[in-house]
Amino acid sequence: MKRAMVYNIQHFSLHDGSGIRTTIFLKGCSLHCAWCHNPESISSQMQILFDAQKCIGCGACAKVCRAGAQQMEEQSIHRYEAAKCVQCGACTEVCYAGAMERCGQWKSQSELLEEGIRDRQLYENSGGGVTFSGGEPLLQAEFLREICMEFKQEGIHVAIDTALQVPWEAVDSVLPYADLFLVDYKVDDSELHQKYTGARNDRILQNLSRLAEKKPIYIRIPVIGGVNDNEENMRQTAAFLQTLGGSVKQVDLLSYHDLGIQKSAKLGKRMQRFITPDAQQMQRLAQCFSELGVEVLID
Ligand code: SF4
Ligand code: SF4
Repeated sequence: MKRAMVYNIQHFSLHDGSGIRTTIFLKGCSLHCAWCHNPESISSQMQILFDAQKCIGCGACAKVCRAGAQQMEEQSIHRYEAAKCVQCGACTEVCYAGAMERCGQWKSQSELLEEGIRDRQLYENSGGGVTFSGGEPLLQAEFLREICMEFKQEGIHVAIDTALQVPWEAVDSVLPYADLFLVDYKVDDSELHQKYTGARNDRILQNLSRLAEKKPIYIRIPVIGGVNDNEENMRQTAAFLQTLGGSVKQVDLLSYHDLGIQKSAKLGKRMQRFITPDAQQMQRLAQCFSELGVEVLID
């Protein structure tokens, strides 16, 4: 039975393609964006999240942890050592305060199909469907191809939210079963792209050009203060998008928010904080795309 590592399923989503959608988030990513708002999506493995704010120091976790990752010190002070954790999940079963949480679960095709078709009526009324997001969903391309095929057989609109930092063969394999692609476009300059995401954008741009010959695309640009929130970057991005002909149907400018910092702390990691561009700045940057002749949405 084929399965995928899934870390979230969001019903009634309004921002992941046309209409009302169910968004299925697959775990594992080929980029490491410094501003990632879903840092729990980067690893392809199941992970344990610890929320220190919720911990009441009851000690239940320490009683079941055989790896020595959960320690109780004097005066009910609890200490969690992520490096010792072997992800058995036992502590998540006994932590009634909700401080220990599993992130990531194997889901079968039939389980996801059931989740996805549940809201069929809503999709039909709103022009919506199912979106696969990540992380990078195309890292699980074989599974993705088959589940997309099943949704298409059910007559459900399928969108794929991707950064395209994958071999072209992965993109090509899902093309017959995907109606729409939401493509993240981080930074136009390849050196900067490498600095902030861990990879140059050459392959991404090549894949994007090839994809544009075949499918409609929404471009999603995270706008990060001090990184790409300048008109030069946005004008260069718009110039590249012009080369893709009429396949770009919408541009979304997504203002930076710092939710990833809290989530990262639950993984025992620290993340850099960036500046959130203000509304006027977002409006100015949106103007850079006016010649594309497509809707530019600011979120
Ligand atoms: S079981 Fe939960 S609330 Fe109790 S000490 Fe462990 S993490 Fe804290
Ligand atoms: S998941 Fe298992 S190994 Fe990790 S802290 Fe919890 S009980 Fe210990």
